[in-house]
Amino acid sequence: MALNIHPEAHIAFKRAKKQILFQWLTLALALAVLGIALGTNLYLDYNRTAIGEQDRLTTQARIVAQNMELQLTTANRVLEDLLNDLSIRQGSYDTQAEAQALQAISNAMQGIHSMGVMSREGLLLTSSRPENIGSNFSHRDYFQATKRQPTSRALHVSAPYQDSFIPYAITITRAILGPGGEFQGLVYATLDSNYFQSLMASVRYAPDMWDAAIHGDGLIFLSVPERDGLIGANLAQTRSFFTIHKNGGKSTSIFTGKVFNDDATQIIALHTVQPASLSMDKPLTVAMGRTQAAVFSVWKTAALAYSGLYVFIALVTLLGLYAYQRRQREFDQKEALANTALRLSEENHRLIVENTVDLVVKLKVDGSHTYANPAFLKLYGVREEELEGKQYWNAVLPEDRHLADDYFEQMRQPPYNATCNLRSNTVEGIRYLHWAGQALLDDNDKVNGFICIGRDVTQQIQHLNKLEEQAQKDQLTGLANRRHFMHMAGIEFARSQRYKHSLSLLALDIDHFKTINDTYGHQAGDLVLQKFSDVFHDVLREVDIIGRIGGEEFAVLLPETDLESASKVAQRLLNAIAENHVTLSNSAVINYTASVGVAALSEQSDSLSVLLNCADTALYQAKNLGRNRAEVADAQVAEAATAD
Ligand code: GH3
Ligand code: MG
Ligand code: MG
Repeated sequence: MALNIHPEAHIAFKRAKKQILFQWLTLALALAVLGIALGTNLYLDYNRTAIGEQDRLTTQARIVAQNMELQLTTANRVLEDLLNDLSIRQGSYDTQAEAQALQAISNAMQGIHSMGVMSREGLLLTSSRPENIGSNFSHRDYFQATKRQPTSRALHVSAPYQDSFIPYAITITRAILGPGGEFQGLVYATLDSNYFQSLMASVRYAPDMWDAAIHGDGLIFLSVPERDGLIGANLAQTRSFFTIHKNGGKSTSIFTGKVFNDDATQIIALHTVQPASLSMDKPLTVAMGRTQAAVFSVWKTAALAYSGLYVFIALVTLLGLYAYQRRQREFDQKEALANTALRLSEENHRLIVENTVDLVVKLKVDGSHTYANPAFLKLYGVREEELEGKQYWNAVLPEDRHLADDYFEQMRQPPYNATCNLRSNTVEGIRYLHWAGQALLDDNDKVNGFICIGRDVTQQIQHLNKLEEQAQKDQLTGLANRRHFMHMAGIEFARSQRYKHSLSLLALDIDHFKTINDTYGHQAGDLVLQKFSDVFHDVLREVDIIGRIGGEEFAVLLPETDLESASKVAQRLLNAIAENHVTLSNSAVINYTASVGVAALSEQSDSLSVLLNCADTALYQAKNLGRNRAEVADAQVAEAATAD
């Protein structure tokens, strides 16, 4: 048988493929959702970190800027006081005393390094640092700038410059104006970079954080921590963050990018110091920054951990699904093989069951059919759909119904199998069927059905019947032979003995038969034997048992017949024989007679052979008394027979 792939296997295969695809898609979707969730979370966290850091940096920048504003405002007020003082005294003052006063003020003000008054020519008239009084500072930029634009309210903020005391000094000045608004000199205050440096250092909250103070023209004049080449660097370049911030016009800006020719990306907050109340000609700018890498280091660790976890989960689930599907596939293959084997085996069984000439039926426990094979359907001339509800005995001949009932009853008991021969009405007439059955048990060992296999044994039974008949009948006369007669007579004898019913036996022998044979030939003798046996049928009853028990010896058992009645029967037989004769083809007529011995069942005759002996003895007497007569076995005869 070819091992074809079953259509069902194709469908199962397609279904399995769909299922595999579905599982991969589901996993991919789940991983995508997880990935998106993690990614979103990381993104939000990144933004939170960035915004938080920007907020912190701008706050710190504002704190420094506000402090600077405060220092500048105070310094401006002091300068203003100084201007007022000068105008009241009209230039006449005590240099020494003034210098001491200025020293006291500048010492009191943390943000001011030194302060003083200069003449129109640039001579230092008085100063908190008296050692410089009399020196000419007209070469200083702040002097020239103030002289160039002498305005009453403007606070001039100098560009940072190298000074002997401070690396980069910034000086703020106010012009002293004459009555016509002409330049008469200036008052100044030099900012104390040490103070601002420590102020900026105090707001640093991370090791990588840096601060810087930038002059309005772009020069860095302070930086914490100090960096080589940073102080004095000019930021007034196109596209520099400083320029962008300045042009942007907002007090605060935030940037992310690279500065100081450094490779590390920085987050930078810039805050401008230029309070409206001061009329500063140049603003100052405070810058705060942190390296982006340091800001996001915690976030980066978390991101790496989450990504690692995600990759781990993805790998585990992907490998898990792969392994699961592999096992499933192996399992499916095994199952498919097992199913194929099962199907082939089932097909084989079906092939056998559907093509066998034997009848195969499956019955419910109530005897109704659930399955019948084609051989059964054909024999009973029914269609499969007509089987429903039909019961097994429907076709069994009523005479055999009890056999069928016994057969099913036997199957209901351990060992739950049975056989029987039943005659059934079929489309081929009445057929003998040999049935072998097995009960089907459920899990609780309760009978819940039957499987029966039947075979048409009509021919065999007929043959057996014929053989049996042949074994029982005498060929020549058609009467029971000796063995069969003894068998049937034995049954009847036992029955009569048990129920104490009367029973008689006749023993018959044709007289001088040898002479008939000798005179007319053996064939004529046979004719006489046949004719003689016809007499029995004419005279005797249906229930009487007749047998040819020897060559020309016969026996007749008469149930329910006592000795007297039996004698009468014997006489009737003799009368009939007397009237009977055989006419041969040559017209010769053979007349013959017979002798009869009569015996009846009595207390002495305890077996059939005893009874037969009695009859034989009586027959012997009849022969002796001249033949063609019947003799009755008397009590002595019976006793003698018993003694034998
Ligand atoms: P009796 O009156 O004493 O009974 O004499 P008989 O000749 O009948 O008795 P015997 O027993 O001497 O002879 C019986 C004969 O019957 C012998 C035998 O050849 C013959 N015989 C036995 N069976 C058959 C048979 O089937 N056919 C024929 N033709 N003869 C048979
Ligand atoms: Mg004889
Ligand atoms: Mg004889």
